[in-house]
Amino acid sequence: MEVRRAEKYGFCAGVRVADQKVKAFARQGGRDGLILGQIVHNERVVEEMEELGVPTVHELEQAPDGTLIFSAHGVPPSFHAWARERGLKILDTTCPFVYDVHEEADRAAAAGAHLVFIGSPEHREVIGYTRDRDPASYHVLTTVAEAEAIDWTEYPLVKVLYQTTLNAEEYEDVVRYLESRTEVSDADTICYATKENQDAARELSVDPEVDLILVIGGKQSANTRHLWEICRESKPSYLIQGPADLRDDWFASVRVVGVTAGASTPDYVIDEVEQAVRELSAGG
Ligand code: SF4
Repeated sequence: MEVRRAEKYGFCAGVRVADQKVKAFARQGGRDGLILGQIVHNERVVEEMEELGVPTVHELEQAPDGTLIFSAHGVPPSFHAWARERGLKILDTTCPFVYDVHEEADRAAAAGAHLVFIGSPEHREVIGYTRDRDPASYHVLTTVAEAEAIDWTEYPLVKVLYQTTLNAEEYEDVVRYLESRTEVSDADTICYATKENQDAARELSVDPEVDLILVIGGKQSANTRHLWEICRESKPSYLIQGPADLRDDWFASVRVVGVTAGASTPDYVIDEVEQAVRELSAGG
């Protein structure tokens, strides 16, 4: 079997920097670090960080002292204040693009706009944008049905911002609905890294020589799931975390295996999957 990787895949710049910052912290002897939430949405990276002596916690209260590490997804601004008030040190790995969305939202809110975040209310990036805001000042939406349930006459000016890892095209109908109800300005906050991975996955999936696609990434990674959704429109596609998830029967009569990976998937996991496919191919 031949393995054909997408033109763009895997770690984006923001995640690469976050990963490097935490590793540098550990290398320089940092022994009191706690990462709030997964540093990136990938279980292997979380394990790797634990082995380096930098475990993950899920609540602020689990970090009584030491260095609190904020992930690439960012946190609500009040988390910084909470840590500072308690004398904790902060290692902030929030991606600059995420900070751009915070700033854009603040500017729009100050100009009197009602904020609409397109994204998952449970996603940490979206929690970062919304938790400190007055609940009356924003909505989080993903479907037209959710938008229809709201009386938009109350909001004469609306600013739409997207969770950076989404595919904006999938939410055009929501934005069009809003535009039919009120005055909308739409901030293009989709991250180029996500889009590049998505475009490359689409290209790979329509490659007539590719028989099957492996999409590698963490179970909780929204952008990995999006890649999988794109690929499975055109080809049999499997979402896997690593080589242990591969099954022999997927590869019967497969000649070319396409490979792509989410923005939180480290290079070594992709290499391991490729190696495992080659071993399967060799009958190993
Ligand atoms: S996907 Fe984009 S916004 Fe998110 S961490 Fe990576 S570079 Fe930053």
